[in-house]
Amino acid sequence: MFWLHSPKSPDTGDGKRLFAENMVIRLLDPNFPNELACGMAFDYDWVIIGSGFGGSVSALRLSEKGYKVAVIEVGQRFEDEDFAKTAWNFRRYFWMPRIGLRGILRMSPFKDVFVVSGSGVGGGSLGYANTLYRPLPGFYKDPQWGGMADWEVELGHHYLTAERILGVTLYRDEGPADKLLREYAEATGADNTYANTQVGVYFGESGETVKDPFFGGEGPDRTGCIKCGSCMVGCRHNAKNTLVKNYLYFAEKLGARVFPGRQVQEIRPIGATDGSEGYELKTKRSGGMFRKDKKTLTARGVVVSAGPLGTNRLLADCVHEGALPNISDRLGYVVRTNSEAIQAVTAPNDDIDFSESVAITSSIYPDPQTHIEVVTYGKAGNVMSRLFTIMTGDGTRLTRPMKWFAAMARHPLATLKLVFAPRNWSQRTVILLVMQSLDSAMRLKPKRRFFVKGVRLQTEQDPERPNPTFIPAAEAATKWFAERIGGTAQSSIVESSLNIPTTAHILGGAVVGESPETGVIDADHHVFGYENLLVCDGSAVPANPGVNPSLSITAMTERAMSKIPLAPGVTELAHLPDEARAAVTPESIDLVEAAASAPETTGPSETADTWGSPSPVS
Ligand SMILES: Cc1cc2nc3c(=O)[nH]c(=O)nc-3n(C[C@H](O)[C@H](O)[C@H](O)COP(=O)(O)OP(=O)(O)OC[C@H]3O[C@@H](n4cnc5c(N)ncnc54)[C@H](O)[C@@H]3O)c2cc1C
Ligand code: SF4
Repeated sequence: MFWLHSPKSPDTGDGKRLFAENMVIRLLDPNFPNELACGMAFDYDWVIIGSGFGGSVSALRLSEKGYKVAVIEVGQRFEDEDFAKTAWNFRRYFWMPRIGLRGILRMSPFKDVFVVSGSGVGGGSLGYANTLYRPLPGFYKDPQWGGMADWEVELGHHYLTAERILGVTLYRDEGPADKLLREYAEATGADNTYANTQVGVYFGESGETVKDPFFGGEGPDRTGCIKCGSCMVGCRHNAKNTLVKNYLYFAEKLGARVFPGRQVQEIRPIGATDGSEGYELKTKRSGGMFRKDKKTLTARGVVVSAGPLGTNRLLADCVHEGALPNISDRLGYVVRTNSEAIQAVTAPNDDIDFSESVAITSSIYPDPQTHIEVVTYGKAGNVMSRLFTIMTGDGTRLTRPMKWFAAMARHPLATLKLVFAPRNWSQRTVILLVMQSLDSAMRLKPKRRFFVKGVRLQTEQDPERPNPTFIPAAEAATKWFAERIGGTAQSSIVESSLNIPTTAHILGGAVVGESPETGVIDADHHVFGYENLLVCDGSAVPANPGVNPSLSITAMTERAMSKIPLAPGVTELAHLPDEARAAVTPESIDLVEAAASAPETTGPSETADTWGSPSPVS
């Protein structure tokens, strides 16, 4: 329940100690609000951890309902012109803050999967490929949650809201990659499944800036897409509908404060151990080895939206440190990778240019569970050639490296060209992104770190339904493309050489379940065992959608937020253009009416607004 109930007295144990510490710190530090020491006020009503799809939706909907909201984001804030001109600019493209790289792409190698994910204000939307599909029907019926509700109906109108706000539209052109994919579909009897992608991009007059075309003029000005293909390096042209142009834009307009460059390290209840009296969050400057600039802040409620890796790691740390000991033992289980393979085919010369489009332009289903999309990094993405190598067939961790060496020996010229001369690689290359809606899973298992606080995560394959390391349908399509254009077939270097698949769509680990025995959060995304603690991001997603997942994360978060009432004492939603409103349901009307009659609480303090000023990339 929300904080409409009366505050309890401080609990015993850790909660009591923390509450006492809190009081001492606050009495000694004039920057902290005095009211907090009396358990009356918090820095924020809600703190949201992470500013990706789950975080941005939560920030907008909670601000709209009258709450005071802060968003803490470990990555940097980027203006359009801050994105790397090419991915060779490692400092602005890759995220490894310990060595000074503060870009938008995070790479996380594990023994069973190589994960790429996003970082920065706007999360994965900054460097994602704009593709926003609804999932395959099996997603709604997955045994993990299928029995809990008719999810297709439950989520239906939230998908509509998500599509409207993210500006989903059909990509209408057909470039060389699409023609090849269509041909492949015809050759394999899948021609009736060929479709142009649904993308979140503004396709106005190319290069022309106009007044906001999405939100009745109340959103930011936008510029028509110039089809440079470099969406995944970050759109410098104001055409991509990143979250900072929609959800987060309006959240900030309604007063939500975003604090970039700051990592949340711990969430701990204040007073009552179930969090019903609020939480204290410990944060530090991101990447700082020495100048950590530690700060804490307090909130009535917390939404954890740090993306699947961030959320699993943070919650596992909190369990390990005894901050949130009652989280379900299922934390880290049911981790999905969308059963993915990322392949590439490079043409022998510059005759074909695959890059003049948006990042993903069309897709097919060669079989009902396999989805293939054609992808480009645009001319700015040449450096990605380093992540690909000559393709090898199926094998084990032992045989695949041998096959890889054999393949390189068989094709020495092609191998040398890939290694030493990736000239125009991204222009000459079509990437094939293959996803499957299979019931495969793994676990993110916490391992204690020695000499340092906290845990690190390790992967462990689900023994009964392991994540595939090789997808025959991906190999077949890649071979066909390579033969058709006389090109070089490639797969990701970690797959060919180490038998480790790559995914851009890691999901799960803190999934929806009927009870703490089967999941970490309930149907409305509340963490079992805690009050006012929610998980809203990809880690809540319980099944492989078989398509790119961001639209589903957005819709699921819209639904979770629709269940939260207006702030106590607030009688109507804050102003937003109609186009940015969530779909209204009978249930949400009930919640508005219930909140209107609830008692008012003490207002939050202004203190936390003074720290964490934006840290622009230079
Ligand atoms: C190259 C690439 C292309 C992609 N293309 C597509 C696509 O076309 N369509 C699609 O649907 N999906 C795509 N994805 C996947 C998509 O980006 C993710 O599924 C989506 O962003 C996940 O949303 P989320 O809300 O779970 O978290 P994210 O969007 O990942 O946001 C989480 C945020 O939390 C921050 N964070 C993490 N830990 C902490 C902490 N402790 N404290 C504070 N902040 C923290 C992170 O920096 C991040 O910004 C792509 C991904 C990549 C890498
Ligand atoms: S193709 Fe270029 S202009 Fe269009 S959305 Fe992608 S990066 Fe922006």
